[in-house]
Amino acid sequence: MAQEDVFKKLVAHCKEYGYVFPSSEIYDGLSAVYDYGQYGVELKNNIKKYWWDSMVLLNENIVGLDSAIFMHPTIWKASGHVDAFNDPLIDNKDSKKRYRADVLIEEHIAKIEEKINKEVDKARERFGAAFDEAKFRETNPRVTANQTRIDEINRRFSEALNATNLVEIKQIIIDNEIVCPISGTRNWTDVRQFNLMFSTEMGSTSEGASKIYLRPETAQGIFVNFLNVQKTGRMKLPFGIAQIGKAFRNEIVARQFIFRMREFEQMEMQFFVQPGTELDWFKKWKETRMNWHQALGFGSENYRFHDHVKLAHYANAATDIEFKFPFGFKEVEGIHSRTDYDLKQHQEYSGKKMQYFDPEKGESYIPFVIETSIGVDRMFLQVISAAYFEDIIKKEDGSTDTRIVLRLPAFLAPVKLAVMPLVKKDGLPEIAEKIVQNLKFDFNCQYDDKDSIGRRYRRQDAIGTPYCITIDHQTIDDNTVTIRYRDSMEQERVSIDKLTAIIKEKVSLQTLLKQL
Ligand code: ATP
Repeated sequence: MAQEDVFKKLVAHCKEYGYVFPSSEIYDGLSAVYDYGQYGVELKNNIKKYWWDSMVLLNENIVGLDSAIFMHPTIWKASGHVDAFNDPLIDNKDSKKRYRADVLIEEHIAKIEEKINKEVDKARERFGAAFDEAKFRETNPRVTANQTRIDEINRRFSEALNATNLVEIKQIIIDNEIVCPISGTRNWTDVRQFNLMFSTEMGSTSEGASKIYLRPETAQGIFVNFLNVQKTGRMKLPFGIAQIGKAFRNEIVARQFIFRMREFEQMEMQFFVQPGTELDWFKKWKETRMNWHQALGFGSENYRFHDHVKLAHYANAATDIEFKFPFGFKEVEGIHSRTDYDLKQHQEYSGKKMQYFDPEKGESYIPFVIETSIGVDRMFLQVISAAYFEDIIKKEDGSTDTRIVLRLPAFLAPVKLAVMPLVKKDGLPEIAEKIVQNLKFDFNCQYDDKDSIGRRYRRQDAIGTPYCITIDHQTIDDNTVTIRYRDSMEQERVSIDKLTAIIKEKVSLQTLLKQL
């Protein structure tokens, strides 16, 4: 099945099974805003817990914060967002569609990369075990020609971005004959800058309302509280502050479901270090964060780093962790070495010292900062797209059936176990209910007695419940039940007394955290 179709099915599945709904749906929706349904909110909370505990629980020198969404407007002046939080936009005059000019160019590069990869795959098939990929990439004329095209676009693109040369960005689009995906034409407007911050008014007009912004990132709340936390927590460098919260960006083009939203949630951690040590810490956090992703077991081949060619003016190193979504490798997390830029700016704009007194050195200085910044919603999309499978099952009569299953890591699954009486009589429902009453303090359980057992299993597979417990007539005799495993569909008979211990071991966050 084409990846595009897989993605469409995934979006439909999220809606059908109570994971994600378009916002304000009865009013035809609100572009790039989504609501999380009964299962979505559980999965989201579990993702946040995995992140929070891996930061705050596992690291003695990282503490949490929950700062307000509204902040003093000068913060956004100091941080550079008022003047420079812009995306280059371009319109197609025929389709009247608006695009991010940089994204048009990146997608064009990705298409050429795809051509190269197809060429490599074909050759691999042809040459079999003897295939030397590196050599093929270096010598095949079609591959090298395409690689040269990519290198040339990248060179011009990075120079244009560094110089904020909007005329050159448009020229790259023209020279590469990039067309509008809707109209198919090259009838483009000039490239313009567009500020992504939402603003609103605080206070009534009579008392002189002032313009404030909805934060476009959570990080600034951490920076302006840096000394509050450091002093009250008696923190010594190196130390980190972690925060989870909403952020808002008026994205030019918001496509691809919850990948790019106008209201979203971030999990950010700012790690304050001694100047001069920041690149070592940057390396360490790169590894730590990649391990965090890979511990979920979605396959290391589905992740890669993308080191930035163009560094933001405040950064001296930056990388993205990219995940292979159904629409290609895309950023889920950014790791940035932000130098002392933010604290210095706040010191200047507020007139308050943002320095740390280093007791060992006996001097005060502004620390440097490594930031790890991940979107909860993008992480959600990563998890759900890695977990979505259509299993083709061969039946005894030779026909086939499709089973839709969300292979969510057990800790992240919204419902940990479903408890089902085989039939709705002979005292089986009462036993099932008693099991739920006992287990509900430890796990999110669901009691289900509607429809045939096969249909009930399918329903649980579709929401990703890792374990189904079935109570049958043998239960009455020997106090045992069957436990059915979602992924293998195998069943095992176990004693009711052992259920808590068995499930606990399998769904515990500890098991996951210990792998880090
Ligand atoms: P992009 O290049 O995709 O716009 P970015 O580089 O601007 O992302 P950052 O400012 O580094 O993103 O934000 C950190 C993280 O926040 C991103 O890695 C992503 O997971 C998340 N994020 C950013 N913008 C959005 C959005 N509009 N919708 C959902 N998540 C987002």
